Amino acid sequence: STSSAVTPTARVIAIANQKGGVGKTTTAINLATALAATRRNVLIIDLDPQGNASTGLGIDRASRATNIYHVLMGEASLSDTAITTDIPGLTVVPSGVDLSGAEIELIDFDRREHRLRDALAGSLESFDYVLIDCPPSLNLLTLNALVGADAVLVPLQCEFFALEGISHLVKTIERVRQAFNPGLVLQGIILTMFDKRNNLSDQVAADVRDFFGDKVYNTVIPRNVRVSEAPSHGKPVLLYDMKCSGSEAYLHLASEVLKRERDLRT
Ligand code: ADP
Ligand code: MG
Repeated sequence: STSSAVTPTARVIAIANQKGGVGKTTTAINLATALAATRRNVLIIDLDPQGNASTGLGIDRASRATNIYHVLMGEASLSDTAITTDIPGLTVVPSGVDLSGAEIELIDFDRREHRLRDALAGSLESFDYVLIDCPPSLNLLTLNALVGADAVLVPLQCEFFALEGISHLVKTIERVRQAFNPGLVLQGIILTMFDKRNNLSDQVAADVRDFFGDKVYNTVIPRNVRVSEAPSHGKPVLLYDMKCSGSEAYLHLASEVLKRERDLRT
């Protein structure tokens, strides 16, 4: 063949913020689902020991027996642990309870910051996007995500302390860029849990836009009870209630992400 086409390779996006409860997992699940709905092949890696992304996608405990912990420890490959979901185009590498001990166990390992990157290397051709759902901490797990990623998407909750700690995250990204992963970019900021009845939400959104400029997505994810109900049904909100404001927002976000990714590549 005369084809010299570059092998397609996944874009890896870490969804990170060391604060808990800001919408990382919700964004990972629903952005992934929305991207899969546009016929992209998407992998979610659940890198949080709490396993909320796995639960929220209806992955039962038995299917998590081999999980991302074993990948990080070098006992399994990503493809050994990947589970295809009911959602066409969406695959998950689940988390497991052992993951909470991984940080300490990895201390003596070679290239302990590169474990996930090395594991991903063999799997990138199978996917268009890999979304990594990070734990609520800037620990070695999150460091593995940042070293393995091309880009970081940061959800910020529209509440008073939204920007608190964000300089620490930005500095961490900068350090990872210098020490391990020069190509890492801040892909974007997504405002979550916006409450239109609350003036504070407007104020916070304006402050975040002042601070981060056009890194902030135009799409804002509203606070919507359907979004919070969906995980208990083991479903992304897009399958639980396709017409609710939360679903619409995540579809909108996906199209903005795709546009931004196209612009970054050209
Ligand atoms: P994180 O992964 O950053 O800890 P989650 O995505 O788990 O945050 O969200 C924290 C909680 O807020 C969860 O109970 C989730 O269902 C809820 N939640 C997230 N986004 C929304 C939203 N847009 N509207 C209502 N509830 C939300
Ligand atoms: Mg989470």
